[in-house]
Amino acid sequence: MLSNNTKILLIEDDLQTRRFLKSNLNHRGWNVTETDSGKTGLTLLKNDAPDLLILDLGLPDMNGITVIKRLRQFSDLPVLVLSARSLEQSKIMALDAGADDYLTKPFGIGELNSRLQALLRRISKTAPQELFVTGELTIDLGKRKVFVAEQEVKISPIEYRILSILVKNAGLVVTQRQLLKEIWGAEHLDDNHYLRIYMRQLRHKVEANPARPRYLLTETGVGYRLSES
Ligand code: CA
Repeated sequence: MLSNNTKILLIEDDLQTRRFLKSNLNHRGWNVTETDSGKTGLTLLKNDAPDLLILDLGLPDMNGITVIKRLRQFSDLPVLVLSARSLEQSKIMALDAGADDYLTKPFGIGELNSRLQALLRRISKTAPQELFVTGELTIDLGKRKVFVAEQEVKISPIEYRILSILVKNAGLVVTQRQLLKEIWGAEHLDDNHYLRIYMRQLRHKVEANPARPRYLLTETGVGYRLSES
């Protein structure tokens, strides 16, 4: 796991959000460097090699999406984006540009912690986890089997592929485009109805109440997230 030397770079111009984040991150013993400028942020990314970037999309000197695009030319470090509720489209653009996940402002400490946990697991993970367990749901990637309350559930090959992509990104958002591209190919990026059909089937198989899913969560307008808790 990550040590106390974990370095976080925080690029955010809103003082209140920055203070909230900094006190939480410091509380974990992590090292936080902060700036309100995208330009300074990019320099720090190059020179300081942080372990994680938390990036506000609306910066005074530069669009956060530009920061991600430039960063991705030289680094694949995990990026958690902060966005205003009104900027639905920019969240998708940020994910397409290479961000790993987002938090919509205002967010609470619980949400922040679960995102950080998922992102940091991605950094520290050496071998992919074969067995994913959350609540009553077990997904065995080694055996390609799914169980609910220890009963095996029969799933189709496409349903299995959806689940395995979500497991590999457990706790993190996966965009509709990512899923469509990986499963059906680049020519089907707009066929969101495919996903809706398969997700509905999957929920009927694994959720106690498919109308109020506990595991397979919808991120409205963006994609899906496999819940870990
Ligand atoms: Ca801002």
